Amino acid sequence: MKEFDLIKHYFAKQNLTRKDVTLGIGDDCAIVTPAKDHDIAITTDTLVEGVHFPESTSAKAIGHKSIAVNLSDLAAMGAEPSWISLAITLPNVDEQWVNDFCSAAFELCKIHNVKLIGGDTTQGPLSITVTAQGLVPRGEHVTRTGAQNNDFIYVTGNIGDAALFLLHYYGKVQLSDDVIPHVKKRLDFPTPRISAGKILRQYASAAIDLSDGLSADLAHICKGSAVGADIALDDLPLSDIMLNTLGSEASANLAFSGGDDYELLFCVPQQDRLAIENAMKKSGNKITCIGQINQSSKITTSFNNQTVSIINKGYEHFS
Ligand code: ADP
Ligand code: MG
Repeated sequence: MKEFDLIKHYFAKQNLTRKDVTLGIGDDCAIVTPAKDHDIAITTDTLVEGVHFPESTSAKAIGHKSIAVNLSDLAAMGAEPSWISLAITLPNVDEQWVNDFCSAAFELCKIHNVKLIGGDTTQGPLSITVTAQGLVPRGEHVTRTGAQNNDFIYVTGNIGDAALFLLHYYGKVQLSDDVIPHVKKRLDFPTPRISAGKILRQYASAAIDLSDGLSADLAHICKGSAVGADIALDDLPLSDIMLNTLGSEASANLAFSGGDDYELLFCVPQQDRLAIENAMKKSGNKITCIGQINQSSKITTSFNNQTVSIINKGYEHFS
């Protein structure tokens, strides 16, 4: 198969229609007609083999994750995902691989009613770039820059499992066979927290999605909002697998510094705590309060009410 066959037989085969896609794959550009009184949130994320996923990662995991990490960015802004474009570079045409990639990508797209409207297909070292767009009622988007002194800091879901799997993968931690699939799934198939993101519009002062690690991503909120934060490491939501493997303090340290969670981190003023906790519960989203914003410009961490120092600052390319 060559470039145009690939596009026709795989990428253009997504079985999903959206009324606001006026023109999809096939012309020089796609044309979309957004709903009235909405803004469009736009984000791009690249996944490079050996950097964002180990070489042994399955096509299904890569397909899922390349969509999920982008939808996660939209969720963090309070946007509802609508359209994606896919720029894919493949070393060669392995039809089984492309089929698996597309089926996992389209499965996630279907859950969130997201339409693939265009892209680019090239040959070279494996790399996937997705641009995702989403809709948010005009002016209701959430940014990294609105956190205020005394706001409470929350995360969705559990954090740290993806980092735990990577430690195992690189031979630094021993995991028993029965738990490996669970933590591997958390790395390979992250869940974008779209419904939680929509609730943020009404209550959150600031939000970000956790990709580089809680420590690094919280630092983005603090810097952007010109505030500091106190984090109670013993309050971080951790899986039993993690706690049983590393114990509570080492688990919390790893969850604080490790990346690839794709959970949402957000800040809520005191007066909105009860309302957002109720709304999240009603929508089936687990959230956990892990600390509070302060007036300093520093992030401090405590364990059992004792201040502890930060061990790792999270992932940064070129460092
Ligand atoms: P052009 O030559 O105009 O840049 P291409 O020949 O690269 O366009 O692509 C033809 C059509 O197929 C375009 O509509 C493009 O958006 C779409 N397309 C190419 N690759 C992909 C892909 N991987 N996924 C989805 N659409 C794609
Ligand atoms: Mg063209």
